[in-house]
Amino acid sequence: MTEERYLRQLRLIGRRGQEKLREATVLVAGLGGLGSPVVLYLSAAGIGRLLLVDDGRLELSNLNRQILYSVNDLGKSKALVAAEKVRSLNPSVSVEPYVMKVQNEKFEELVRQADVIVDCLDNWAGRLTLDRLAWIYSKPLVHGGIAEFYGQATTILRGITNCLKCILSVTSGYVGEPPQVLGPTPGVIGAIQAAEVIKLVTGIGEPLFNKLLIMDLKRGEFTMLEVRGDPECECW
Ligand SMILES: [Zn+2]
Repeated sequence: MTEERYLRQLRLIGRRGQEKLREATVLVAGLGGLGSPVVLYLSAAGIGRLLLVDDGRLELSNLNRQILYSVNDLGKSKALVAAEKVRSLNPSVSVEPYVMKVQNEKFEELVRQADVIVDCLDNWAGRLTLDRLAWIYSKPLVHGGIAEFYGQATTILRGITNCLKCILSVTSGYVGEPPQVLGPTPGVIGAIQAAEVIKLVTGIGEPLFNKLLIMDLKRGEFTMLEVRGDPECECW
């Protein structure tokens, strides 16, 4: 049965690749517009263990883009609902929901357990925490960010790239008004993040190391930038 489930990807990644996915623990931080496609694709691909972190509850205004959820889930904890969806999509995935912020002191232990961390957050304060922990524990961090019709993605790994903070010249965790977002924007970036995770775990292909993919859905354009960090940053 398992063979049949993965039949259409087995020749791409091989049996060993499929085993690597089953043996992997992936930490998804943020279960909104980006987290939705990331969780769906990683579950469907057969990631063995998913750690899902979000402290929010589902609101009606989330449903234009957060495709994991339905009207029956309004008011419920996103982490708990997301875990249920994973179990119904692929019961062979071991899924653990955590209703908390990434700043929670217990979050660090999840980072230690993860093979890959996926940044699906919507705020820089949380991202800088992820970035620092990923750096400390030398875990690959798959970043995605979106607003309106625009998105970006890159993959960070100590020893290969600089940290997210200095690559993107982030100076503070400023929190502004939540941006307007068209649903397909996080759909595309989240799918790219899921592909990054699968590539990192299986060792197939080339992750977005030292590259920032910029997407403009309004014009249907993708641009790749070579990125280097700030030489003054401690990550050098
Ligand atoms: Zn840095």
